[in-house]
Amino acid sequence: MVKEAVIVINNQIKRQEIFMPEVIEIYDDRMSQLVRPDATLQKLADGAVHSEGPVYFHEDDSVIWSDAHGNRLFRWNKSDGMSVVRDPSNYQSGNYRDLEGRLVACLSGDRAIIRREHNGEWKILVDRYQGNRLNSPNDLVVKRDGTIWFTDPPYGLTQPNQGYGGKEEQAGSYVFRFDPATGEIYPVVTDMERPNGLCFSPDESLLYVSDTSEFDYPQGHHYIRVYTVVEGQRATDGRVFAVIEPGQPDGFRVDEHGNIFTSSQDSVQVFAADGTRLGKILVPETSTNLTFGGQERDRLFITAGKSLYAIYLNTRGVQQ
Ligand code: MG
Repeated sequence: MVKEAVIVINNQIKRQEIFMPEVIEIYDDRMSQLVRPDATLQKLADGAVHSEGPVYFHEDDSVIWSDAHGNRLFRWNKSDGMSVVRDPSNYQSGNYRDLEGRLVACLSGDRAIIRREHNGEWKILVDRYQGNRLNSPNDLVVKRDGTIWFTDPPYGLTQPNQGYGGKEEQAGSYVFRFDPATGEIYPVVTDMERPNGLCFSPDESLLYVSDTSEFDYPQGHHYIRVYTVVEGQRATDGRVFAVIEPGQPDGFRVDEHGNIFTSSQDSVQVFAADGTRLGKILVPETSTNLTFGGQERDRLFITAGKSLYAIYLNTRGVQQ
C-alpha cells in the first residue's frame, strides 16, 4: 500500500510516497483483539532530529509533536501536511491538552510548564518549586480534575541537545502535581532516578511512571513503575510494573481496557494491566512516545526517530 508522507528538510516542506507494511508481533491472545487484521503502519511525516511528545486535537484532526532535540514544534493533519509551529520551541518536550482543549507542554529549555491560551499566546504556568527552578520538565498528563502531573528529570541541563544547560536546583528528580487553578505544586513521586513518561489508569486510581536512568549509565533503570493514587492527590506504594527491553519506555499511554502501550527500541510494546507483555507493533525507527487520536480515539500516533507514524487499532485511548 502506498501512503503519502510529508517531509521537512531545512524547513522546506516536501511530499513523498512511502510503502509501509503491517508489522505486528503477538505473544498473548489478548493482543489479537487489540489490532486490526488489515492494519498498516503509516509514516505520516519525517524531518525531525528527534520526534517526541505527540498530542491529538480532534477539533482539526491534527497532531502536535516536538522535535525535542531539534528545538522545534510541529503540526500534522491530513489536508495541511506537516508544518512548523514554533522555531525555536525552547526545547519543548511532552505535550498534552487541558480540560478546555488548550495545549499544555513541558519546556525542557525554559524549565517550565506552559500553556497555549485560546488567543494563541504562550503562558508559563509554573517554573519553580519552593523558590527553586525546576530541572527540565519532560512529560505531562492532565488529570480529570484539571491538575497537571509532570516529570522533572535533568536532561535539559545535562544533555546539550535537550536544553540550555544550567544548575540543578531541586534535591532530586521528582514527579510533581501542579494545580493551575490555585498554583499549588508539590512532589508526588520522589523515589525515582530519572522519571520520564507517565500516565494514569483509565479510572485514575493508578499512576504509571517510567524510569529511564539507563540513558544515563548502562546499569540504569528501563522500567515502568506503578503507584496507587490516594484521594486523587498523592501517589504511594510504588512497585515495578514492567521492565522494558530492548530500549527504554520514554513515553506511553493507556487504552480503555487499561492496557499500556509503551515506546521501546524496536517497537511499541503492549502490556496488559496485569503486567503481561501481549505483543509488539514493530516500528522501523526507535519509538519515543505515542498518543491515541482520530475521531474515534482508535488511531495510535507514534513519534519515532525523525518521524511520525500512525496505525488504526481495535481499541481506544482514554485521554481527552
Ligand atoms: Mg520523555
